[in-house]
Amino acid sequence: MKSALILAACLALSACATTQPPLTARTEASGAERPAEQLAVVFEHADLALRIEPKSKTIRGDATLTFLATSALTRVMLDLDNQLPIDAIAIDGHNLPASAWSNPDGRLAISLPRPVAAGEKIKVRVQYHGAPHVAKKAPWDGGFVWSTTPDGQPWVASAVQGEGCDLFWPCIDHPQGKPLSVDQHISVPSPLVAAGAGIAMGKDEKDGWTTWHWRAKNPSTYGISINVGPYKLLSEDYKSRYGNTIPLRFWYLPTSEAKAKELLKEFSLVLDFFESTIGPYPFADEKMGVVETPHKGMEHQTINAYGNEYAKTMYGYDDLLQHEFAHEYFGNQVTNANWDDMWIHEGLGSYMQPLYMQYLRGDQEYYSALMRMRSTISNKAAIVSGTPRTEEDVYDQKRGGPGQDIYVKGALVMHTLRNLVGDKAFFKTVREEVYGTDNPLPGKMTPRYGSTTEFIKLANAASGQDLKWFFDVYMYQKDLPDLVVTPVGNTLTLRWKTEKNTPFPMPVEVRVGDKIETLAMKDGSGSISVPAGTTYTIDPHSKVLRRLEHIEAYHQYQEAEKAKKKKAG
Ligand SMILES: [Zn+2]
Repeated sequence: MKSALILAACLALSACATTQPPLTARTEASGAERPAEQLAVVFEHADLALRIEPKSKTIRGDATLTFLATSALTRVMLDLDNQLPIDAIAIDGHNLPASAWSNPDGRLAISLPRPVAAGEKIKVRVQYHGAPHVAKKAPWDGGFVWSTTPDGQPWVASAVQGEGCDLFWPCIDHPQGKPLSVDQHISVPSPLVAAGAGIAMGKDEKDGWTTWHWRAKNPSTYGISINVGPYKLLSEDYKSRYGNTIPLRFWYLPTSEAKAKELLKEFSLVLDFFESTIGPYPFADEKMGVVETPHKGMEHQTINAYGNEYAKTMYGYDDLLQHEFAHEYFGNQVTNANWDDMWIHEGLGSYMQPLYMQYLRGDQEYYSALMRMRSTISNKAAIVSGTPRTEEDVYDQKRGGPGQDIYVKGALVMHTLRNLVGDKAFFKTVREEVYGTDNPLPGKMTPRYGSTTEFIKLANAASGQDLKWFFDVYMYQKDLPDLVVTPVGNTLTLRWKTEKNTPFPMPVEVRVGDKIETLAMKDGSGSISVPAGTTYTIDPHSKVLRRLEHIEAYHQYQEAEKAKKKKAG
């Protein structure tokens, strides 16, 4: 998801004002602990036939889910918003009586007609219909977006990262609930287009409706999306440095044609950067896909949502396009095993922007992008708690979550790590986190799950150092390390102070006059001589993320200004 720092207005006043039943706590939460029945299956395949009816803002769903039981099952447990009434459920082609299922609060429990043994497969078919939850402010508050194009045609999208796949299809709403493959059959009034994940398998037209068939491997649960509009398609092929060819596809609104053609030029630049910096594009055998959406953006796998309205910035690239594409590596290829590790998606993903700038433009843009992020780190909670959390528990600071720090602090921590261990070890760590190997092969690769503890192990191995102290402070403590600098006579003493008094042997550069010296800070402290009349600068090349009083003062000023405005307004 794009950082909420970019404010989104309600896209249509009618959507904001829509009254709809509130989501149950279960449906609203994504990534809560899974029941035994969900842990006892391999989700092999989801066949999702969805009819999208823009006029009535409703959907009709026919989902056939194939599960392989890994231990004996008497029930199947799925997640589905209980505002979507169920018409029928069948197991292996046999309809169940309505008494065999219940969905009191969004957990759909289906009693099987006979026990299923470990190693057996079952097909669960769920037919349902209704008005899916409407997003109040997509993508931050998720659901369906029923919009219209500038020339008045239906323009429909879904964005469900926060609440999960259960807002519109029966699924396992957990980061590890990915099906091994998905077929989508999206029916829309002709001549509207439904752009989907994976590979285009064709379309059928019947009675004024077009059904678009898409097939994707290992899609992330919230990466399965609906994108409907009067789209036109731009296509190009990208010749990868790894020898393979990657299809570039951009579905755009006809009213955006000139701007869309301009934006398409950025696709290959972005791919150049990611393939040369991180490694082969993970979904090269499907496509790099982007679709213009009525909401800001979302990392829908191989069909990234793009709603940045072709905005220009001083950096000269589309930061939303680049950010969502970063998630093809950080989010879709490596997926957090639990939402508690969400910084792997957003922190590493966000760090790709300054890195892209350093690669494309130079140091000015790199440090400028970092400074913008540095100024918004809030340090209200540690990035990682060490225990499983739902998506909202991470995103919502009121619930004690780190909120936007998973983006901005995550990125600055990566910058600091890179400076500490050097480019070779840093990029080796990142590559192994993304692919599970330092030597990924292009074209065909399988997404994997990653975690903070795994990342630390990889960083230790790649650097040949024990970096526990580094991650303890930056990831598991909320306060930034504080470098206490005390001048005594002609000597400057430096001492690291951490929230939990844990060791922090972070080297620090000091420039005295025109000479830069590195203090090893092995026991957390060091000193340097500063002759009378000489000036000094701590960390002159901005290598280390640390507490800065002037930024705290700036935050206090911002808060005071906000309070003043609130009082006046
Ligand atoms: Zn994001």
